[in-house]
Amino acid sequence: MSTKRLGQKTVAVHAGSRLVGSKSQPLVPPIHMSTVGWFDSSEELDGALDGKDYVYSRISAQNTALLEEAVAALEGAEDCVSYASGMAALRAVFDAQYLKAGERVVMPADGYGVTRLLFKTLCARAGVELHPLLLTDPRAPERIAELRPRLVLAESITNPLLSVPDIRALAKACRQVGAALAVDATFPSPYGQRALSLGADYAVQSATKWLNGHSDALAGTVSGSRERMAPLRSLRLLAGDVLGPFEAWLTQRGLRTLPVRMKAHFEHAAHVARRLAESPLLERVHYPGLPSHPHHAVAREVLEGGFGPMVAFEIKGAGRPECFRVLEALKVARPGPSLGDVCTLVMHAASASARRMTPEEREAAGIRESLLRVSVGLEEPEDIVEDLLGAVAQGVKR
Ligand code: PLP
Repeated sequence: MSTKRLGQKTVAVHAGSRLVGSKSQPLVPPIHMSTVGWFDSSEELDGALDGKDYVYSRISAQNTALLEEAVAALEGAEDCVSYASGMAALRAVFDAQYLKAGERVVMPADGYGVTRLLFKTLCARAGVELHPLLLTDPRAPERIAELRPRLVLAESITNPLLSVPDIRALAKACRQVGAALAVDATFPSPYGQRALSLGADYAVQSATKWLNGHSDALAGTVSGSRERMAPLRSLRLLAGDVLGPFEAWLTQRGLRTLPVRMKAHFEHAAHVARRLAESPLLERVHYPGLPSHPHHAVAREVLEGGFGPMVAFEIKGAGRPECFRVLEALKVARPGPSLGDVCTLVMHAASASARRMTPEEREAAGIRESLLRVSVGLEEPEDIVEDLLGAVAQGVKR
């Protein structure tokens, strides 16, 4: 733009806002911070408002579109819609069902505590019946057939006990009664499970976790058919729970190394679980790759590339104070209430991921005070083992 004869205020607003003459293609996508796009042609602007181009970032935006394309490809989906967090993604799936009073929703009784409270709240508000079930129970498909819910939510590997439901069997039961099946596949990530290929209608990710991989952005995604995604996209435009461009960019940067990171996380988790299982200080080790795990056979069929990046364990005779001391005694791993980082993160489940469940709900789910959950990082696996066992020994010392 020629700035000759323009006043300084005008120059300050407009100068340097358009690059001309460069044919260079950036290897890394630029971060499009502009919330608005403008067009020389009003016809093009009009078309953009109909979704043909980027014009306002609550409608669609370049970095979220690139992230959605990448996640859809990894999930084996036709389309993907991104959100400001994993919780926003789960809420969007719920909202997109337009449930009416008296209709039913099924969810895991032993899943993420915040999702449990979200669904409880949303169902109570809409007069919808919520049925928390142990979806790993072989009778779960039968219960779904009896309940005839509109929506079933499952977790691929449950948070925090690492149970593995048979998504294929749940999908079959859902199809028979016309229920939509949403699978929160955050724990294995699309590396370890592509829930849509097992019959799910929605694959949900807290992209905050393994997709991002570096704990520097909150994000959520829902993937599925174009038909299933269209109402989600329309609702997002109204609700405005969009992902910002910088968060989308960071998530996409992390996602580029997903398969190589996850291969290592899975291998390290297998090593850590095997070694922890030998410890006399532990009551139980939860890891679907151990032949003693109750869902080992199912996990072999529904998980890919191994048995996930997470391990959980119960410390003999420990309560909350002992577990808190274990967290404080860690030297390599960090006591962080999340997962999906390059660094090993350890969490006391009852006071963190299951904090918002009632004591009765925790009891029914089998989440005890002695349980710690580990998101296994990329450190030397034997360093992780020594750190965990050393901290356990410290924590339980009288
Ligand atoms: N789903 C699972 C299984 C989770 O563990 C979490 C968070 O820990 C979420 C969803 C929510 O994701 P976010 O924190 O990105 O909202």
